Order: sequence, then C-alpha cells, then structure tokens
Amino acid sequence: MGENGLMPLYRDEAVVLRTHKLGEADRIITLLTRERGRVRTVAKGVRRTTSRFGARLEPFMVVDVQCYEGRNLDTVTQAETLAPYGDVICRDYSAYTAATVMVETAEQLTEEHEPSTQQYLLLAGALRSLGGAEHDPSLVLDAYLLRALAIAGWAPSFHDCAKCGAPGPHRAFNVAAGGTVCLVCRPPGSAAPAPETLLLLACLLSGDWVVADASGERNQREGSGLVAAFLQWHLERGLRSLRHVDRVRTVRPLPVLQPVAGQPSLLEGRLALDEQPFLEAQIEPDELRALEDQHPALDRHLAQEVG
Ligand SMILES: [Zn+2]
Repeated sequence: MGENGLMPLYRDEAVVLRTHKLGEADRIITLLTRERGRVRTVAKGVRRTTSRFGARLEPFMVVDVQCYEGRNLDTVTQAETLAPYGDVICRDYSAYTAATVMVETAEQLTEEHEPSTQQYLLLAGALRSLGGAEHDPSLVLDAYLLRALAIAGWAPSFHDCAKCGAPGPHRAFNVAAGGTVCLVCRPPGSAAPAPETLLLLACLLSGDWVVADASGERNQREGSGLVAAFLQWHLERGLRSLRHVDRVRTVRPLPVLQPVAGQPSLLEGRLALDEQPFLEAQIEPDELRALEDQHPALDRHLAQEVG
C-alpha cells in the first residue's frame, strides 16, 4: 500500500511474454518490462470482445502499460501499443516459432522484479527484426540467443580458445568448455564444425549481418545446432519450445482465425496446434487455483479503489 492507502501505480514499457486465462474473462499477462524486470499482471476483461486493450496484450506485442502493484500480481489499468509485432509474427510460422523461443528464453534469463534493461532491449530489437522480416527468422533467433546468453554472462568464444585464451582460429568446439578450444585444451568428444559455421556464429554475436545473411544453409543449420546445444547446456532444463523451431525453410501456413466471442484467440488457435503449448505450460494447477482464489478479493479491492 502507498502512503495514502492506495496501491502504488507505475508506468513502464514492456514486451508481452505470455498470457494465461484467468476466470471467465481475464488473463494473467507475463511482461518483461524495461525498468522493473519480469512482472506478472492481471488484465481484467481482456477476453471480452469489448475489451479496450485485449489485442494489445498478446505475446510479442511491445506496449506501454500502467499497472497497480499488487501483493502477488499487478493489475493492468492501461495498455498502449508501441509496436504491434504480434500480428505480423503470427502470420509466418518460422517467425512465430522463433519468437516463441525468444520469449521463453527471456523469461528464463530474467527474474521477477529484477531490472534487466539490456535483456528487454535485446528482445524488443529481435522482435522488431522478425516483424520487419529483415533477415531469415532462424538467423535472428540464433543472434538473439547468443546475445541473450552473453548478457547473462555466458558469452561463447568462436575464435580464441575458451579455456586458455590461445589466439584462434581453432577447429574444435566444446559446449561445456565455452566454445572453440585449442588442441591442448580440447576435451574428448569436442565437435569440429566447419570454419564457415564458426565465422557465422561470431558474426551473429557481433551483429555483422552482411556476412550472416550471405551464409550458406548448411552452415546456418550447423550453427543453429551449436547454439541450441550451448543454450540447453546453460539453462539445464531444455526449452520446451525449441523443438518446434522450423529450421528448414519451408513455409507452413496456418489457418488465420478471427477472434470470436467465446472462441480461442488467434494466438491460442495457433498454439493449440503445438503438442506442448508454451503459453499454457508454466503455471502449475495449484498455483493457478491460488491465483483464482485471490481473484474475487482483487476485484473487490479494485472496485473500491477505482469506483
Ligand atoms: Zn587452450
């Protein structure tokens, strides 16, 4: 509670990471904010067709939000679209799967209420690149993952030896050792990727898109495999959504569903096609029940505050 007895109000920029149904018409919206890290919020009435900000609070959207701080969940009172990447990304299967891995990674690499402006800016930039179809979605994803890991303190080496620092280039690559390794340091079972693949990954990490865009498909695939192995090594439990990433450049169009009252939204319709939809997976049933129990009290509280 604030000094005057009202719940503190704040305003921030945020990327919508995921949403989850709550009660009849509401959603829990997980946001990565610019100033206050990851926050979980309640957006009331967003599943009604009359909702003022329902479509603004879909995954991958970048929004300017105003929220009341709550004890467990904050409550969204306003949301303005800063960048509507969600619509564009959801029309392209490769972009959609890449964006899904990005938001899941961002969620795992950030903490609730712990500011991580670098991770926010990186994610917003990567979504902008996907939304603008600036590069192959798979390359944008790998660049994002490498940089997100680097911000988290796990920058891989693609040139010098990751263990002793001996100047490269080196042929051997070892995920556990942190990247390329020299002949002396090379642990058994190290991979020997093509030199062009290591160059591609170095360019994705540093942002040299001229080289990255011109890279061959075989090197892109090999690079994606190394990035995925590197990511999973560091995150211990693998990212569920990574297996859905379409690494082969085939376009798999999905039906475009129009939001209808009482029907799943566009995004939920798409997610229903996945075996393990990311957006439904994280909140455990017990936790959800506890949130729903808390919900009527939250309603009454807001009615007092706002009405
Ligand atoms: Zn070495």
